[in-house]
Amino acid sequence: MKLHEYQAKELLGRHGVAVPPGKAAHTVADAVSAAKEMGGDFYVVKAQVHAGGRGKGRFKEVVDADVLARVLRGEADVPGKGGVQLCGAATHDEAVAKVRAAAEMMLGNTLVTKQTGIDGVKVKTILITTGAAIKKELYAAILLDRQKSRLLLMASTEGGTEIEEVAAHNPGAIHKVWADPVTGLGDWQCRQMAFMLGLSGKAFKGAVKMFKALYATYLAVDASMVEINPLVITPDDDVVALDAKVTIDDNALFRQAEIHSWYDAGEDDAAEIEASKFNLNFIKLDGNIGCMVNGAGLAMATMDIIKLYGGEPANFLDVGGGAQKDQVKAALQIITKDPSVHAILVNIFGGIMRCDVIAEGIVAAVAEAGLSVPLVVRLAGTNADKGKEILAHSGLSIIPADTLADAAEKAVAAVSK
Ligand code: GDP
Ligand code: MN
Repeated sequence: MKLHEYQAKELLGRHGVAVPPGKAAHTVADAVSAAKEMGGDFYVVKAQVHAGGRGKGRFKEVVDADVLARVLRGEADVPGKGGVQLCGAATHDEAVAKVRAAAEMMLGNTLVTKQTGIDGVKVKTILITTGAAIKKELYAAILLDRQKSRLLLMASTEGGTEIEEVAAHNPGAIHKVWADPVTGLGDWQCRQMAFMLGLSGKAFKGAVKMFKALYATYLAVDASMVEINPLVITPDDDVVALDAKVTIDDNALFRQAEIHSWYDAGEDDAAEIEASKFNLNFIKLDGNIGCMVNGAGLAMATMDIIKLYGGEPANFLDVGGGAQKDQVKAALQIITKDPSVHAILVNIFGGIMRCDVIAEGIVAAVAEAGLSVPLVVRLAGTNADKGKEILAHSGLSIIPADTLADAAEKAVAAVSK
C-alpha cells in the first residue's frame, strides 16, 4: 500500500526523522488557515498524489497539450507551475496569499507528471509545509535487496533527480550498505555512508541520525520501501527529509491497523480495487487482450504466449486455485468493463478448480452483462468436457480452443480483425 507524502512524513517524524512541519488540507480555506497557524513567510504547497515527479508535472486545466506531451517525455524545462509550488514572500501575508493561489490552482485540478500518463490524476489533498532553504540535495532510501536477502541503505549525492537517471548516467554517485539480518544496520555503517557522501561536522552527525531513523521507520511500519528524495542539507547544516515515499507491505497491513485506515482508494485503479474485493489478483496492463487464468504461474505463461503470437495482454488476472462461480463472474465483468479490451482469453487448468464451475461463471456473467468482444476459452483438466458442454449449449458465441498456443493464436487473430 502506497502512502501519501504527508502520511509518510507523519510516520517518519514519529520515529525520529527530521521533517518540516506541515499539514494536509482538502479545501482552500483549510490550506490558508494551516499556513497562518504555522507562521513564517516561506511555505511549500504540494499535491498529494501517488505519483512522483510532481515538481516537474503540470496541471491539465492550465497548460496546453504540447506542454503535457513534454511533461510525459520528462523534459525539465516545461513552463508553468506544477504540483510542488514554493510560496515565499517578503511578508507573512504575501506568502499566505501565495498559498491560497497555489491551493486554488491545485485542488480539484488534474496533475500530469511523467509517472501519471496523459490522463493525469485529480488532486484532492494538498500538503502545506514550511519551506526549507537548501544547501545540498541528497538521496536516501531503505530498500529490500532481494538478491542478497538483506535490507539496503542506498544514498547518493545526486538528490532531486530521479534515482533511475543517476543510476544510468552516474552510477558511481550511488552508495550502498547492507544491514545484517541479525544485528541490523550498524551505527558504523551509517557513519560509513555519511563518509562516502563526503559529509563532515554537523551535517555528518545529522545524516547518521537520519539513516538510523529511516531504518527504524522501515522496520516499525513494515515498509517495503522508504525513499527520501531530496534529503536536504540546509545552510545551517541541518539534515531534513523534504520529500518522502513510503510503501507498506500489504501482507503486514493486518498488524498496521492505523496505517491501513489511511488507505486512499481514490488513488488506485478502480478495477484493481473491485478485483481485490473478490480476492482476485488483478493488475491492469496496457494491451488489448483481457486474460482470465487460474494460478499466477499459468497467468504469466499465458501472457508470455500472447506476446509470442504478437499480441499484448490487457491485464494479469489470477482467479486463484479454488475460485467460485461468483469470483469467475466478477473477474469476467471486470475485464469486459475495460474499454481497451478487444478480445478475452480464458485459460483454465482444472485441478482443484473445476472447469464446469468456470463455465457456469462465464455463462452467468455474459447473461447479466452481455458480451461485445470475442471470447476465446481453453479448458483443460478436471471436468473439462463438462465445462465445454455447458459453454457449447449456452448459445453464446464462444471460440473454443484446445491448446494454449491455439488459444493465444485465436485471441490475437480476434483483435487484429
Ligand atoms: P517530486 O517532484 O514529486 O519529487 O516532489 P519533491 O517534494 O521532491 O519536490 C520537488 C523539488 O521541489 C525538490 O527537489 C526541491 O528542489 C523543491 N522543493 C521542495 N520543497 C522545497 C523546500 O522546502 N524548499 C526549497 N527551496 N525547495 C523545495
Ligand atoms: Mn521528490
